Amino acid sequence: MTDAVDATDKPTPRRNPKPKIGTLNGRKMKPSTLMMGHGYDPSLSEGSLKAPIFLTSTFAFENAAAGKRHFEGITGQRPGGADGLVYSRFNGPNQEILEDRLAIWDGAEDALSFSSGMTAICVLMLACCNAGDVIVHSGPLYAASEGFVAKVLSKFNVTYLDFPAGATREELDTVLSKAKKQASDNGGKVAMIYLESPGNPTNALVDIEAVKDARNAALDPECPIAIDNTFLGPLWQRPLDHGADIVCYSLTKYVGGHSDLVAGSIAGDKKWMDPVRSLRNTMGGITDPHTAWMLLRSLETVELRMQRAGENAAKVCAFLKSHPKVDGLGYLGMIEDARQQDIYDRHCLGAGSTFSVFLKGGEEECFRFLDNLKIAKLAVSLGGTETLASHPASMTHLSVAHGRRQELGITDALVRISIGIEDADDLIADFEQALEAV
Ligand SMILES: *Cc1c(COP(=O)(O)O)cnc(C)c1O
Repeated sequence: MTDAVDATDKPTPRRNPKPKIGTLNGRKMKPSTLMMGHGYDPSLSEGSLKAPIFLTSTFAFENAAAGKRHFEGITGQRPGGADGLVYSRFNGPNQEILEDRLAIWDGAEDALSFSSGMTAICVLMLACCNAGDVIVHSGPLYAASEGFVAKVLSKFNVTYLDFPAGATREELDTVLSKAKKQASDNGGKVAMIYLESPGNPTNALVDIEAVKDARNAALDPECPIAIDNTFLGPLWQRPLDHGADIVCYSLTKYVGGHSDLVAGSIAGDKKWMDPVRSLRNTMGGITDPHTAWMLLRSLETVELRMQRAGENAAKVCAFLKSHPKVDGLGYLGMIEDARQQDIYDRHCLGAGSTFSVFLKGGEEECFRFLDNLKIAKLAVSLGGTETLASHPASMTHLSVAHGRRQELGITDALVRISIGIEDADDLIADFEQALEAV
């Protein structure tokens, strides 16, 4: 530490103004390079190469005028949030570096981090909706997201309409015109179009471009299109490039990537982020500093991990596809439907590493398969370094009514697999012996 510092000129770890994306010889650096240093200046933290974890509840202001200025940002009197560190429910150095780096991956102006994917999604929806409003969403959604819309928002007289993931422009026009009528009957507006693509666990894709065109034709452009990009992001799908306004993540999955943390985020233009930040400031729900730090570590390898997992998944699926005990695959590298393939070709940069396998038989066959796996672990969640397998109909989607499960293709014969970064041949050997036991 320096001994005599001028009290008005203390360096703070806050990077102010917001860091610019680095360029070299006029060329914008790529995300994989930027993850090693963007938004962090070691000289502000004793030269520490990695950002320290800032375990503090509150931050000392440079002077009273700065405190006032920061609170103008916190309370929304000035848009864009605080321009200094204030209090750990609002912001912190680890969270700000994380948010700057998350925004880079999606090509977004701004990002916000949360204590879980569900906190991100719930705070986003609450910030967008008033009583009487309607949410239009694709189906299937992650069960908790669907539950939040149907069971929690309904308590505040926010209703919903849904459409199947693969819906065509015509079908989208129909559902939006119904939604407009419903909203006007309820004295509200269509507040948000909420997508999840690919859908969990069937991998059904939503045509984001068609949704954007339908929104532009039927609704106020002030009705945002948000999309849960957890299954393919940030590497294999960039929804903001295809007309989505807000992208949501469970960072617990591929971004965290080691099955050792729970977190979430949203990203998009500042005008969409500001009201959500403001509600997060009120409710709490920002990531804690330790988890934010863990995520900074994870972001350094996210591209490597996802590439390797994607290559492994392609090899495993090539094996499973022709196995006599396998009835079919829900893998984006082997789409059979022409419309789904067309959406894939326009929107996706890779097939991902989470897919469904339909075994011949039902629950009994699936359970035998799962109970015999030796490398793959029997667990819900996805996107980690290790391969996981689960049975959605009796686990993650047990709360979904039987009829609705059938409609969505979540049968008793479906096993969901998330491929990790192990050796592909070892994984194939594991699936081979587990299928033999069926
Ligand atoms: C896991 C998941 C969520 C919820 O995220 P949490 O971090 O568990 O709160 C939301 N959407 C999708 C697609 C998910 O897989």
